[in-house]
Amino acid sequence: MPVLINRPRGTSDFLPGETGRWRYVEKTLLETAARFGFREIRTPVFEHTELFRRGVGDTTDVVTKEMYTFSDKGNRSMTLRPEGTAGITRAAIENGLLNGPLPVKLSYLMDCFRYEKSQKGRFRQFRQFGVECFGPGEAAADAEMIALAFSCLRTLGLNGMELTVNSIGCPVCRADYRKALTEWLERRRTELCDTCRTRLDRNPMRILDCKEPGCRKIAAGAPKTTDFLCPGCRAHFDELRGRLTAAEIPHSADPGIVRGLDYYTRTVFEIAVPGLPALCGGGRYGKLVETLGGPDMEGIGFAMGLERLVAAMEDQGAPFPEEETCDLFIASVGREASQRAFRLVMELRERGISAECDLMGRSVKAQMKFADRLRAKESMVIGDRELETGGAVLRNMKTGGTKTADLEAAPLARALGEPPENG
Ligand code: AMP
Repeated sequence: MPVLINRPRGTSDFLPGETGRWRYVEKTLLETAARFGFREIRTPVFEHTELFRRGVGDTTDVVTKEMYTFSDKGNRSMTLRPEGTAGITRAAIENGLLNGPLPVKLSYLMDCFRYEKSQKGRFRQFRQFGVECFGPGEAAADAEMIALAFSCLRTLGLNGMELTVNSIGCPVCRADYRKALTEWLERRRTELCDTCRTRLDRNPMRILDCKEPGCRKIAAGAPKTTDFLCPGCRAHFDELRGRLTAAEIPHSADPGIVRGLDYYTRTVFEIAVPGLPALCGGGRYGKLVETLGGPDMEGIGFAMGLERLVAAMEDQGAPFPEEETCDLFIASVGREASQRAFRLVMELRERGISAECDLMGRSVKAQMKFADRLRAKESMVIGDRELETGGAVLRNMKTGGTKTADLEAAPLARALGEPPENG
């Protein structure tokens, strides 16, 4: 049926048949993170725009082109969060989490908003799962982060993950790299796209992220960050790769990944499965906490997009749990029977059994048809005779097998397989 007003482009409706899958994925992700010591945090959907300008970087595409920014009624500039790290870092500082024992390990599930061209795997409202770890500068933390991302994907039944890692150095060695890159790109200025010509003046590393074929070709031949690492950054990168190898996490180094956000230092990584844009991206941010007014403290994190994750699981035929169905449908004939059905259904629900009865005033035949549609496991019909005898026939909707059951919640629940009280 045509609707008067459609949903906005780049957003999704998740229908009852799908939400169970999402709940399963979200629960699995949070539980996997909890086994690694990460505890869930929730932060506001909108923040002061300034937070993202500083925290994500005002030369990034996310900040310059993609934010949903609005003035509230008090004329303050607010932005729907385009990513999680800035808000979580703010919350960690503001709530004093970073003053306690380190590391501080946080996990999150959140909707994010970016005004992007919507296409496969790219939406304007999308859901991210992610983690942040504040405190450690050691490469062991980077390795643990990547191991967690892998564990999440494996636990959800995915195969064929491709992990690429890179180091983009620290502010000191990156300055040398930036100089070399700028000189190299300057000689090819006229071959760059319009946006990249501006990037060349403001933030040349962004050019390595450009999707234009001409710029990609140029980027492929550009100087590599890993050729400019200072001894400290080199040792950190080698240590990370050594740990990944020791943990049997297959990976390759790709000097092309610099990641779209400004706050990264040293480690950056991406995980993809064939056929979809990157599933997971993350890295180390050495200066973000300080930039947002906190102590001089390292952080590291990753985020994965759930739309892409669920799509990858569906592509690969990964298992999802069975949809929950109704345990018992109680059909009824007559007002008194309908009332009894209603009460029984309520009592069974209190006992944790999913039960339904007629709300539409339908005939018994129509009620049973509806019970079929609900895929109810068992059904029973209550009429005058059942009210009189206090018992009814419980029918297994799949096998057709029948047994008699009392019209009282406790015995009925037992007949439906509820374990008896006291074991
Ligand atoms: P980013 O914050 O850009 O590093 O993104 C982290 C992850 O979020 C990506 O690897 C994607 O899985 C997901 N993601 C980012 N942008 C979008 C989008 N517009 N639509 C769907 N997923 C996205």
